[in-house]
Amino acid sequence: MALERTLSIVKPDGVQKNLIGEVYRRFEQAGLKIVAARMMHLSLAQAEGFYAVHRERPFFKDLTKYMSSGPVIVQVLEGENAVAKNRELMGATDPKKADKGTIRGDLAASIEENVAHGSDSAENAKIEIAYFFAAADICPRTR
Ligand code: ATP
Ligand code: MG
Repeated sequence: MALERTLSIVKPDGVQKNLIGEVYRRFEQAGLKIVAARMMHLSLAQAEGFYAVHRERPFFKDLTKYMSSGPVIVQVLEGENAVAKNRELMGATDPKKADKGTIRGDLAASIEENVAHGSDSAENAKIEIAYFFAAADICPRTR
């Protein structure tokens, strides 16, 4: 098992619906540690840069508009297999297909407004963490 880090975002709908604590509770209960966190209101350009891999997709314009529509909380999660564990906690992209007991299955309204983002690979996690945090912003747990 590998100690990993992953980038997580509580998206604008999650913040708007006062779900920050509920999402953090699930991370902590699953043994993931929050080692960096920051609230920010993304500009359209920041959202476009973050989701650049999706720029050719039909939903790109709506997605970036939504991601810049209100404040988000961005965090780095650390733990054993953090990337896969966070994806498991989130559930499928479309809440209709997400299992009960997952963040999206329990809390999300639609495929677009789906409460949380999580990196999909260790490689992308590194890129996404660096998009929002400097090395000095990350506080590894010593105990
Ligand atoms: P995320 O990257 O946000 O963690 P994901 O990896 O589960 O989500 P992606 O395929 O990377 O899913 O899509 C990124 C985001 O784009 C989704 O979380 C969702 O908000 C939005 N999205 C994806 N597919 C659609 C769609 N068909 N229609 C509208 N929005 C979509
Ligand atoms: Mg994704």
